[in-house]
Amino acid sequence: MKYKRILLKLSGEALMGEKNYGIDPNRLDQYAQEIKKIKELGVEVAIVIGGGNIFRGVQAENTGIDRVQGDYMGMLATLINAMALQSALEQNGMFTRLMSGIKVESVCEPFIRRRAIRHLEKGRIVIFGAGIGNPYFTTDSTASLRAIEVEADVVLKGTRVDGVYTADPEKDKTATKYDNLSFQEAYEKNLNIMDMTAFTLCQENNLPIVVFDMNKPGNLKKLIEGEIIGTLITT
Ligand code: UDP
Repeated sequence: MKYKRILLKLSGEALMGEKNYGIDPNRLDQYAQEIKKIKELGVEVAIVIGGGNIFRGVQAENTGIDRVQGDYMGMLATLINAMALQSALEQNGMFTRLMSGIKVESVCEPFIRRRAIRHLEKGRIVIFGAGIGNPYFTTDSTASLRAIEVEADVVLKGTRVDGVYTADPEKDKTATKYDNLSFQEAYEKNLNIMDMTAFTLCQENNLPIVVFDMNKPGNLKKLIEGEIIGTLITT
């Protein structure tokens, strides 16, 4: 196994699957099965999930809602996704804990670093919901921060493209994929991998990132086993 403890970042939008909004139960189940394959290898799994399929803070400003209020709405959206994912994981026989960046006592535990690490050591999948708990951040930043806090070996950013390209592969047919990149190269080439806060946190803490296609069955497992999948970003 290449990694012992990972932080998997999933976007909220990915959960929509074939739908235009909300959560596609088939997609959820597919992700749960992919995660199960790596749990069976013995890897410790922490997950951060976005909320873009339900609400994003920046959207709020267009509708007259205050930005900060909107960001809290976005954080609650991530909790809804996290609960749905938790349920799918449990239905597939895995043990989980949901920890929230804002207190929602009746629903889940608050984020407590030492407790999160203990859950991971015991083999439970820990889902970090509600982002960092502060407005003006993203779930990518949450992924970087929580990964550092729980001492994960890597952030695996599951997307619908199979890595980082020289240009947008959906628009430019000549675009080619990078297998490896340094943080510095990514800055210089202006490659949009994560927001700056998230990206800088990883760089400053020597935390590698892998961008890979989460929708391709078997990819996550191959990655854990050390195959070259997606794009690896390191210092
Ligand atoms: N958010 C926030 N603080 C955080 C994490 C998230 O305010 O620490 C809000 C923010 O408004 C964001 C929304 O939650 O737009 C949903 O998260 P994100 O856009 O990162 O989800 P994704 O794009 O991954 O689906």
